[in-house]
Amino acid sequence: MIVESIHDWQTQAACRGMDPAIFFSPDDDAAGVARAVCSICPVKAECLSEAMSRGEVYGVWGGTRERDRRADPPRRARPDRIATTTAAAQA
Ligand code: SF4
Repeated sequence: MIVESIHDWQTQAACRGMDPAIFFSPDDDAAGVARAVCSICPVKAECLSEAMSRGEVYGVWGGTRERDRRADPPRRARPDRIATTTAAAQA
C-alpha cells in the first residue's frame, strides 16, 4: 500500500479540513471562494511551489486557478503577485 506523506507546510494550510470540492470545482464562484481562502493562507508559496513542481493541471493551488497557471508561467506565478491580483479582484 502506498501512503502519500503529508508535508509539514500542509498542517498549516488554511484549507485544512475544508471540502476539497471547493478547490476542484469548474465553477467560477467556487474558485472565488477557494482563492479567498488561499489569500489568507500562511503557506501559499509552498502550496504553489508544490503544484508547479508536480505540474498540477486541475484545481486552485496557492491562489491560482488552472488558467492562471497556464497563462502565467512558473517564473511569474509568484504568490506576491497573486496576492496583489486577488486583492485587486476583491476590491
Ligand atoms: S494556498 Fe490555498 S490550496 Fe494551498 S494550502 Fe493554502 S488554502 Fe490550501
